[in-house]
Amino acid sequence: MGFQERLLMRKIKKTADHKTDLYKLKKKKLEDSKTDAICSKESTVPNKINDKRRKECDEELQHKRQKLCDGAIDKTDNNETENIPLNDIKETEGTERVTFDSLNISGPTKKAIEDMGFTTMTEIQAKTIPLLLSGKNLVGEAKTGSGKTLAFLIPAVELMYRLHFKPRNGTGVIILSPTRELSMQTFGVLKGLLKYHSHTYALIMGGADKKLEADKLSKGVNILVATPGRLLYHMKNTKDFYFNNVFCLIVDEMDKILNIGFMKEMNEIISLLPKARQTMLFSATRTQQTEALTNLAVEKAIYVSTKVVGVADNITQGFMVCPSETRLLTLFTFLKMNKKKKIMVFFSSCSSVVFHHALFNFIDLEVMCIHGQLKQNKRTTIFFQFCRAETGILLCTDIASRGLDFPSVDWIIQYDPPNDPKDYVHRVGRTARGEESGGNALLMLREEELSFYHVLKRALKDVPVWEIKLPYNLHDIQKKVETLVARNHKLNLMAKEAFRGYIKAYESHGLKSIFDPSKLDHNLVAKSFGLRYPPNISDSDSRHRIPNRRERRRMMEEKSLYAEK
Ligand code: ADP
Ligand code: MG
Repeated sequence: MGFQERLLMRKIKKTADHKTDLYKLKKKKLEDSKTDAICSKESTVPNKINDKRRKECDEELQHKRQKLCDGAIDKTDNNETENIPLNDIKETEGTERVTFDSLNISGPTKKAIEDMGFTTMTEIQAKTIPLLLSGKNLVGEAKTGSGKTLAFLIPAVELMYRLHFKPRNGTGVIILSPTRELSMQTFGVLKGLLKYHSHTYALIMGGADKKLEADKLSKGVNILVATPGRLLYHMKNTKDFYFNNVFCLIVDEMDKILNIGFMKEMNEIISLLPKARQTMLFSATRTQQTEALTNLAVEKAIYVSTKVVGVADNITQGFMVCPSETRLLTLFTFLKMNKKKKIMVFFSSCSSVVFHHALFNFIDLEVMCIHGQLKQNKRTTIFFQFCRAETGILLCTDIASRGLDFPSVDWIIQYDPPNDPKDYVHRVGRTARGEESGGNALLMLREEELSFYHVLKRALKDVPVWEIKLPYNLHDIQKKVETLVARNHKLNLMAKEAFRGYIKAYESHGLKSIFDPSKLDHNLVAKSFGLRYPPNISDSDSRHRIPNRRERRRMMEEKSLYAEK
C-alpha cells in the first residue's frame, strides 16, 4: 500500500471513529434523559398555557370527574379484579388478611406495591382504601405504625390515574404533613408508589428554597406533599401555581398539625381550595381540635377507626424506678450494654439533648441527636442516617415522636417523662412499625412520679407494663463526669442549660399532681447533669438560652402566624 493510500485509509478510519463516538454520546444522552424523567417525574415543559386552552383542559377534566363520580370509569386497566364489597372486609377482619391484589387498582400501582414487598393490607388499609377509591370523605383514626400512609396514598394515586391527570391540569392532590421530616418520609413512599406511573409530584416544605419550589410548581405538580405554612405561602405568592383542579386534600397527623398551631393556616388553605373535592383526614388520636377541623374541612365524612388508640400489641413495655442522682449513670449503663441495638432516647428539652449528645460522645459512647434547634439540612441528614443505620443511638426531643418511620428500632427509652399518656403512645409508636415487627419500650420514672404508671395502666387498658431492673451494676462514672463537667467550660455551660431545661419542662408539665416541681431536689437533679451544685435557674443569659417546651410551642405558633407573609 502506497503512502497516499495509507493516509486515505487513516482519514476514513478517523471519520468512522468520530461518527461512532457521536452516536454513542447521543444514545447515552437519550437514555439519561429517560431515567431522569422516571426518577424526578418533574414536568420539563413550562405549564404556561393561555386562558382559553386552560378552560378547555379544565372542562375536559371536569367531564372526566363527573363520569368517574357516576361510576362510568370505575374499572381500571386490570379487568380481572373486582372491587371488594365492604361487608366482606368486615367478615374477614382479624382472621383472613385481605391482599392488595384483590383491590380494584391499576397494574402500575399493584406492581409498585409488590416492589415494596407488601402483599396483605393492614387493618386500616383494608377498611379505608375501598371507601376512598369510591370517592368518600373520610376521617381515619388508627394507632401509629398501622400503615396509614399507604392507606391514603394508594387511593390518591389511583384516582389521579383514573382521571388521566396531566401536568397541564396543575395540582390535583395535596398531602399536608406537620413536620418536614414526616413530609420527606411521605414523599419517599409516594415516589415508590409512582414508580410505574407518569404523574408529576413534588415536595414543598419550610426551610427549602422557595424559588426552586415555585419553578417546580409552575411546571405543573400533580401530587404535592407539603407542610402547611409553605403551601399557604405558594398559594398566595406563586402566580403559576395552579390549584383550581385540586380534587383531593389529604391531611396526615391532623392532631399534630393543630397542636403545633397551624389552625389559622389550615383555615386559610381550606378556604382557598375548591369546595368540590374529596377530603381525607388521618390521625392517631382524636381531640376537640381535630373535631373542629373536621367540621370545617368536610361536610359529610365517614369515621373509620381501628380498635382503641393505643400501643401496638407486639411491643414489650416496661418502666424503671430510678432516683434523680443515678439517672445519668443508669442511662449510660443501659446504652453501653446495648450498643449493638438501635435505640431512641427521648428528652424533654433541646438543651438536655445537646448536653447529653456532647457528653456521651466525649466519653466514648457514640450517639446522634435530633431536635428543633438544628438547621433543617442537618436534621435531614441525621434523619436519613438513622433510618439507614442498623444499630445506633439517637437522642431526641418530641420532634421525632410523631409519624416518623425509622425502620426496626429495638428500644424506645423515655428518659424524661412524656407530657401525658397520648405522648407516651406516640413515642412508643416509633418502634414495632408495621404489623409484623416487634420492639421494646422503657419508661424511666422517679419514685415520686410512680403514679404516672397507674395513669398509664388505665389509659393502655389491658396492655401490661412490667417493672424492669438493670441486671448489671451501674458504671460508676459519676465522679469522672463531675470532674469533666467542672473543667470543660463548654460542657459546663451546656450542663447548666440542660438542668434549667429539665426544670422548666417539669414546671410546665401537664400533669402537675404527678410531676410536682416542689418535690424535685435540685441538688440531686444537678448530679444527673454531672453538676456538683445546682445552677441558679434565673442566671441564664436569655440571649443564649434554649427556650423550654412551652416557650417553643408559643414561638412556633407565633412563627406560623407571621412566617411567610
Ligand atoms: P402510620 O402512618 O400509621 O404511623 P406508616 O404508614 O408510617 O404508619 O407505616 C408503618 C410501617 O408499616 C412502615 O414501615 C411501612 O412500610 C409498614 N407497612 C405499611 N403497610 C404495610 C403492609 N400492608 N404490610 C406490611 N407493612 C406495612
Ligand atoms: Mg403516619
